[in-house]
Amino acid sequence: MKYLYNPPAILKRTFGSFKWNSSNATILLTFDDGPTPESTEIILRVLKEYKTKALFFCVGNNVRKYPDLVEEIINQGHLIGNHTLNHKQLTQLTYTESINEINSYIQLLKEQHKYDVKYFRPPHGKFKINTPSLVKKCGLTNVMWSLLTYDFKGDIKEVKLAVDKYLQMDSIVVLHDSVKSAKIIEDSIKIILESANKKGFEIGEPEECLR
Ligand SMILES: [Zn+2]
Repeated sequence: MKYLYNPPAILKRTFGSFKWNSSNATILLTFDDGPTPESTEIILRVLKEYKTKALFFCVGNNVRKYPDLVEEIINQGHLIGNHTLNHKQLTQLTYTESINEINSYIQLLKEQHKYDVKYFRPPHGKFKINTPSLVKKCGLTNVMWSLLTYDFKGDIKEVKLAVDKYLQMDSIVVLHDSVKSAKIIEDSIKIILESANKKGFEIGEPEECLR
């Protein structure tokens, strides 16, 4: 799948077991690829300031490197999702390799943080026809998005354009807690919160958004 701000309806219908939009008409904020010291600390501070909760799709490698950041995410009441152990594209892995990438992450969070992961997002948003059954087999719900902000390009103007044009009351928004977006992540979150406020939309509790 090519990157798109908002994936087409046909794709959403074909992969109907995936979550593309929030289910309670509030916005779900998600952060992919962390945790990283450069970005996660900033995100946590801004979310706290605005009393907002989010879902972090962490990568296993980073979870191993920065266990304290993972604990901080959990302690502040945010959710952690599964973005695989090594951030490899499912389209380039066999079924068994994919299962291993996902299950190793589940084990890691259970053993190191006593945390039960419920949600999954495929690296690079790329998936195959067997991904729905694979994710189900791992006991997870696959969460895609309806607004990709392109924050990883590091250009705040692009984020603003994307948010102005595509933010809806039930958007699942993707941001990144990565080095690439660190410089603009604070402003990116604020642009979303301001735009939501202006349009009369609310940011939801992640668990409620995904019921
Ligand atoms: Zn990713």
